[in-house]
Amino acid sequence: MSAALFAPEDVETRSRYRAFMEEHVYPNESAIEREDDAGLALVGQLQAKAREAGLWAPHMPPEAGGTGKGFLYYACMNEEIGRSMYAQLVFGCQAPDAGNAEILHLFGTPAQKERYLRPLVAGEVRSFFSMTEPDVAGSDPTTLRARAVRDGEEWVIDGHKWFSSGADGAAFAIVMAITDPGAAPHRRSSQILVPAATPGVELVRATPVLGHAGRGWSTHCEVRYTGVRVPVSNTLGEPGDGSRIAQKRLGPGRIHHVMRWLGQMQRAFELMCRYALEREAFGGPLADKQTVQSWIADSAAEIQACRLLTMDTARKIDEGSEARVEVSLIKFYAARVLCDVIDRAVQVHGARGLTDETPLSTMYLQARGARIYDGPDEVHRMVVARRVLKAFAAGGGWSFGGL
Ligand SMILES: Cc1cc2nc3c(=O)[nH]c(=O)nc-3n(C[C@H](O)[C@H](O)[C@H](O)COP(=O)(O)OP(=O)(O)OC[C@H]3O[C@@H](n4cnc5c(N)ncnc54)[C@H](O)[C@@H]3O)c2cc1C
Repeated sequence: MSAALFAPEDVETRSRYRAFMEEHVYPNESAIEREDDAGLALVGQLQAKAREAGLWAPHMPPEAGGTGKGFLYYACMNEEIGRSMYAQLVFGCQAPDAGNAEILHLFGTPAQKERYLRPLVAGEVRSFFSMTEPDVAGSDPTTLRARAVRDGEEWVIDGHKWFSSGADGAAFAIVMAITDPGAAPHRRSSQILVPAATPGVELVRATPVLGHAGRGWSTHCEVRYTGVRVPVSNTLGEPGDGSRIAQKRLGPGRIHHVMRWLGQMQRAFELMCRYALEREAFGGPLADKQTVQSWIADSAAEIQACRLLTMDTARKIDEGSEARVEVSLIKFYAARVLCDVIDRAVQVHGARGLTDETPLSTMYLQARGARIYDGPDEVHRMVVARRVLKAFAAGGGWSFGGL
């Protein structure tokens, strides 16, 4: 199936990612996870090696400084890259930079591309995406409170955000703020480029997430914007385009997450199967117990369903579709499968699954957010059901198409 899904040369490139992961990423995961100065320096060295190997920025096309060839290609590569929590960073395609690069590439002016996109894709700087606010429901962007008021040729931004991932040490933000409160709900907001060093940008704290505050790229920060002045020319697209651009950003961003999860699921699955064969209890290996066999069979079916849904969605995006139903469908389904497969793998490992002897405990903690970030499960289910029902209400039906 894989050979038919992917071009042979892409399968060949994927094997180069696998070799790089085995040689450089897996042996260094514990060192990177410590997030100390040595770990950060190591990431820099591995990034240099990834560039030399021609494996840099596989999410972006060559004209934007990457080595990518579209979404299906990137999905194929992520079956390897996604296996390690740190590999997207090593290959220069980590969230939220990848999504920010995507919208800068699509909507940036030549000057914005030169100042923000080029150094971002080159890995010289990091960025953050500042949309979610503590005081209103992030699921419903029409409730945003941050304001950008025009004063001559400048925006003056005031707002309170949190979960701005990677804000610690980042060079710039893309801030979502209301610029026209009187407009229709989906024309009220704009996305504005804000250099992090601009007076009035205050990084309040790295909010601990499941006990982990992180450092640099691994933070989720609370940020205040008080009287922050930036040129109106820092607007992405036109004023009022914020929601439209958010859709353009969040669609690809969501499927990028799912692609990474495919690697995580497959790694957890392999760990589960190997340990089930090795560990013995009650007179035989765990692999002989029917419950464990059910977990393995269910996981195999669910992972393959996620793979095929993801590849199908990626292909549709490459063909020019926004694939909004497909992206929402795979986002909530794969998030659930990710959590379930890692949970089963932890259970098969018993107490060892909760230690640092395997990557499972870190994978388990990281996986929980998947059901919330870039839209909670419930909202994605709502999007899918509404679209499907709308088609039926209009007298039609829902076509599942063919791969
Ligand atoms: C690890 C992590 C990283 C993140 N990174 C970023 C980032 O870089 N930038 C950024 O701007 N944001 C980021 N976020 C924020 C994320 O996108 C929001 O948390 C998300 O959009 C949900 O918003 P909320 O937390 O305000 O939940 P709310 O909108 O308050 O929703 C709370 C709960 O209500 C339920 N709910 C909501 N709507 C419905 C509905 N229609 N039907 C049924 N139930 C519903 C859901 O169960 C939901 O979990 C991140 C979040 C996490 C966890």
